[in-house]
Amino acid sequence: MARHTYDVMVCGAGPAGLALATLLAPQRRVLLVERRAGQGEGPRIGESLPGAAAPLLHRLGVLERFRRGGHRERGPAIAVWDIDTPVWKDAIFDPAGPGWHLDRRGFERMLQRRAQEAGATLVDGCRHIRVDRHQGGWQLDTGSARYSAPVLVDATGRASGIARQLGLRKSANDPLLCLHSFLDSPPGDPDSAMRIQADAQGWWYSVPLPGAKRVLAYHLDSDNPLWHRLKRGAVFLAHARQHPLLAEALTDLAPARMQCRPAGTAMLSVEALASVGDGFLAIGDALYTFDPISSQGLFHSLASAASAANAIVAGSAEALQRHRQEMQAVADQYLAHWHGTYQGPARFGGYPFWQRRQRLPGA
Ligand SMILES: Cc1cc2nc3c(=O)[nH]c(=O)nc-3n(C[C@H](O)[C@H](O)[C@H](O)COP(=O)(O)OP(=O)(O)OC[C@H]3O[C@@H](n4cnc5c(N)ncnc54)[C@H](O)[C@@H]3O)c2cc1C
Repeated sequence: MARHTYDVMVCGAGPAGLALATLLAPQRRVLLVERRAGQGEGPRIGESLPGAAAPLLHRLGVLERFRRGGHRERGPAIAVWDIDTPVWKDAIFDPAGPGWHLDRRGFERMLQRRAQEAGATLVDGCRHIRVDRHQGGWQLDTGSARYSAPVLVDATGRASGIARQLGLRKSANDPLLCLHSFLDSPPGDPDSAMRIQADAQGWWYSVPLPGAKRVLAYHLDSDNPLWHRLKRGAVFLAHARQHPLLAEALTDLAPARMQCRPAGTAMLSVEALASVGDGFLAIGDALYTFDPISSQGLFHSLASAASAANAIVAGSAEALQRHRQEMQAVADQYLAHWHGTYQGPARFGGYPFWQRRQRLPGA
């Protein structure tokens, strides 16, 4: 079996892994190992990127390319959340700029191209990866080749596949599901707003996407039998249209194929990470999977990659400790904000979906 040596092995070529590989590749030999073969097709959920991500895109050397990438500038957010009437928040009041609704596939293709240009080696289609400790570092076996490096990074997304192999478990008792579909919308749809609607069983959002599409998503608990009924596109659309805020953006749109994703908060403990051996890090969703209500998952993927890159380049125990403290601060801030957000719709406080969220996830 072929054997190769690298300085850093990154598992998972999503936004987090690609960003880390881009930042490290000019100075380190970086291997990126991805389970998927090739890039996926069709629109993908996870499309809102805040304006605060611009400096991170600049650091990755892609800001200009990104601006030309056909992403839509975010418009206002209109929310029926704390009260039963729409509250309008204009994007121009965000000091970091309005942000974007992404062509998510195009975004990831851009990041992948950049990581490879920077010099990272990408090996995709690796369905079964085995990791082990090896001579004080890490060894990764894909079945057809064996790789080793002193640093191993889990960027496998929500599943935290590498951390799990090493015996770590996420706090994950939040049963939030996201049911969604990508509706065909008229080309040049002038409605650039993000619409957010709380109801007794969960919450909705809808935003226009590049490429004449509109995402419509509903978040509810996996043990709520309602979701079985809503798996039919026409029923889903009719249910959304009961809310005037959504109905006005959904006029004349036809039902589309339904998709479903787990979406609840799930977090690794940074202290537990330190316990599995030197040179192991987790970034992006593999470290903290945020609730989509935060719209911060992609930002966190890029920011945690930048923080990890600083620690890996510095190469000292102190730098690693600083990175872990930074990540702990991110977790604390996220949980406080998450809790405050779900306390908002107090009028639904008697319903299980909202009652469940009076406690922090993992508590
Ligand atoms: C319903 C929903 C809506 C969302 N909306 C938003 C939003 O509006 N804005 C926002 O910022 N974020 C949003 N997010 C979150 C956002 O999509 C994620 O935070 C982001 O994709 C995380 O990037 P990542 O690189 O950490 O993980 P991923 O994007 O999950 O990438 C992980 C990669 O690792 C690969 N992989 C998995 N297992 C293995 C393995 N064992 N070995 C090798 N490779 C592996 C996967 O194939 C994938 O390519 C949303 C998420 C959901 C579920």
